[in-house]
Amino acid sequence: MMQLSVTISTSSSFPSFSPSQQPTQNPPPLPPTIERPKKSMHHTLRVNHPHHHHHHHVGPLHALKGTGFLSAIGQAIEEEEYRKARAEVNRKGFNLEGYSIEGVSIGGHETCVIVPELKSAFDIGRCPSRAVNQNFVFITHAHLDHIGGLPMYVATRGLYNLKPPTIFVPPCLKEDVEKLFDIHRTMSQVELNLDLVTLDVGETYEMRNNLVVRPFKTHHVIPSQGYVIYSVRKKLRKQYMHLNGKQIEKLKKSGVEITDTILSPEVAFTGDTMSDFFLDPRSADALRAKILITEATFLDEGCSIEHAREHGHTHLFEVCDMQEIIEHAQWIRNKAVLLTHFSPRYNIEDIRLAVSKLQLKVSAKVVALTEGFKSTYS
Ligand SMILES: [Zn+2]
Ligand SMILES: [Zn+2]
Repeated sequence: MMQLSVTISTSSSFPSFSPSQQPTQNPPPLPPTIERPKKSMHHTLRVNHPHHHHHHHVGPLHALKGTGFLSAIGQAIEEEEYRKARAEVNRKGFNLEGYSIEGVSIGGHETCVIVPELKSAFDIGRCPSRAVNQNFVFITHAHLDHIGGLPMYVATRGLYNLKPPTIFVPPCLKEDVEKLFDIHRTMSQVELNLDLVTLDVGETYEMRNNLVVRPFKTHHVIPSQGYVIYSVRKKLRKQYMHLNGKQIEKLKKSGVEITDTILSPEVAFTGDTMSDFFLDPRSADALRAKILITEATFLDEGCSIEHAREHGHTHLFEVCDMQEIIEHAQWIRNKAVLLTHFSPRYNIEDIRLAVSKLQLKVSAKVVALTEGFKSTYS
């Protein structure tokens, strides 16, 4: 056993908050330096937390309004505050079908799409602070722009004393992900607690009693899978619909199964995939989920469909073309489609234009996740 000669801080300056009380908020800002005692490992953990924009102290300046010079400063600060607040609101992503979806997805750089209502994050290329509050992470494949933030995510959950997260990976990644965490434990001498769940295509996992997840096959350059999250409800069987409450109660007591279990696909996330996914019968549930979150890495003539395929990605033209080919098949049945993973070569205006073209071809509402992309006008 290694002995580390580092001092232990016994005064806990750890933030006191319960994750269950604040499920939809950012983790509270930490003081710049935290010293946290560990039971089994004698060391000091220092963390610099960069997110402090919740704390702006403009209050005292308001009181000095009207004193000329100070008033001007006050106003400037207020404008700055306003600008920041606006940026914060704009950042918050989309309200789609009752889900508030947000995140970042820039092809090759980072992808993490967050659905707070499901306490879920899909992929975690880097670890955005909002991801830390999600209890479930679904990893589609091992490219770094999708998995790179995983150790940081687990470490940050530990730092906030949040319960160990449940992390889903394709079975082929299990061993390597375990090794990865072992290496980080050895290097950092920090407990990293997580519940690693391998889930294969065709398997079902109960996230909570009215929510299950199932992976589906996607088509990328390395092993990959997408995930569909279903809501579960019980429905009285047709043959018993005419009965009254007492009769139903009696049947139930006699041990007859009076309900059917209905799974409704709510949110599907593909991660990186070629357009083959759209034609695969096994994608049926993903294509009828309320919300489909998929990729369109390339979207203009500058990059060919062949180029997209070589890299295991989808070209937006393919989606448009396919819709014409299978017009009668009621193909994309999603209520909303969120496009992600655009190449960083594009700016917001390119993306919006291309997406509006797809919008003309499908009945689903099509939106693009453009967080982090540049505008031509900025
Ligand atoms: Zn990627
Ligand atoms: Zn990839």
